[in-house]
Amino acid sequence: MTDRTDPATPPPRREPAGFAPSRRGLLGAGAAGLGLAASSAALSSAALAQSRASTEAGMAGASATNPGPQNVPLGTMLPDSGMPPVSDHGSVKQFWSSMSLAHRRIQRGGWARQVNVTDFPISKDIAGVNMRLEAGGIRELHWHAADEWAIMLTGTARITALDYDGSPFVKDVKAGDLWYFPQGLPHSIQGLGPDGCEFLLVFDDGTFSEDDTKLISDWLIHTPREVVAKNFGVGVDALKPFDAIPPEGRYIFPAPLPPALAQDAAAMTASHPMSKIDFAFGLTDMKPTKEDANGSIRVVDSRNFTISRNVAAAYVVVKPGAMRSLHWHQNADEWQFWISGKGRMTLFANHSDARTIDFNPSDVGYAPATLPHYIENTGTEDLVYLEMFKAPVYQDVSLNNWIAALPPELVKQHLGLSDATLAAIPKDNLGIVPPGKG
Ligand code: MN
Ligand code: MN
Repeated sequence: MTDRTDPATPPPRREPAGFAPSRRGLLGAGAAGLGLAASSAALSSAALAQSRASTEAGMAGASATNPGPQNVPLGTMLPDSGMPPVSDHGSVKQFWSSMSLAHRRIQRGGWARQVNVTDFPISKDIAGVNMRLEAGGIRELHWHAADEWAIMLTGTARITALDYDGSPFVKDVKAGDLWYFPQGLPHSIQGLGPDGCEFLLVFDDGTFSEDDTKLISDWLIHTPREVVAKNFGVGVDALKPFDAIPPEGRYIFPAPLPPALAQDAAAMTASHPMSKIDFAFGLTDMKPTKEDANGSIRVVDSRNFTISRNVAAAYVVVKPGAMRSLHWHQNADEWQFWISGKGRMTLFANHSDARTIDFNPSDVGYAPATLPHYIENTGTEDLVYLEMFKAPVYQDVSLNNWIAALPPELVKQHLGLSDATLAAIPKDNLGIVPPGKG
């Protein structure tokens, strides 16, 4: 990997069309350079291989040196930016961001950070928030104008909500569980013992900001005190405790651990029975939608998690060397959150433009609807990431599946592949393919 850790920026260039991504070819490139290949039109596969090797040798040589200032840690994390595959070309809108870049709003009781369209302009459909609550720490009772989908990353929490009939909901959620609170429904989250929790929130609106939700305390201290007293049927003096509320509300704050779940549930049903809606879902408890030696995919959308009416998700595990195969999504942009391991994605953006970017835990990726991509595990551990969509159902088109569903002669006229190659292509959708054969 030594020739790939230099974050040098090669000079602009235009490669012949038809170059296949070649990580291994780049790694194995020799020192001798023959210069760039000429027209692609009539190149044999042997000529393509030779021109690719010579191009890569040239890139690794004098033309790609970068003697000026460098951010070495960043370059090491993003090797495909400094030394792109020769198939990359042109300008593709930035589709990489990271929670680790975001400002952390740290308060007593926990913290929050977010990536939304303000800092990540491509992300028009979805905003993401990463939050930590200490044991007992509360994310204040609130609501907002976007739908909220969430996954618990570590630890446990108690969530509450109120449904459309005014019936309450309460549940304790653990790592791998989801919840979904539609627009306008009030809810809360409280960290439980022993060490609270950390979770990811996904909102179906790229402009959503966690700093702009409706907080119960913020609202009530900005309503005439006598109006609140009249609403509650008490004297104004009973609202003296409001004086201790910070001017912008509490947002996240420390508190003692709540009582047992059954005790809270009993107290909550004084006027209405428990909600019939289950706002939570055991994602990692569910049987994978597809699983084999190369990894697994769990698809959760409104078909199996009914309340998740406008967010579809895929929780994907890719084994080392394996790859979420070439595909695109018909119905919505894909917003990714990278949970563990490392990998890379190439986004093809029409008219010869393509870019490859590497991803690490806490990174956020984006693939606009219809733009094809893959996710390759480039590390030594399992790669785990989320594909999130602002859509009621998950949809994708798999290249392998498409090719299998075409007349073989039609495919051969386009790509020149042999019958043996066509026969070797995996036929199934939602594919994760094994490590390459070189
Ligand atoms: Mn919320
Ligand atoms: Mn995808």
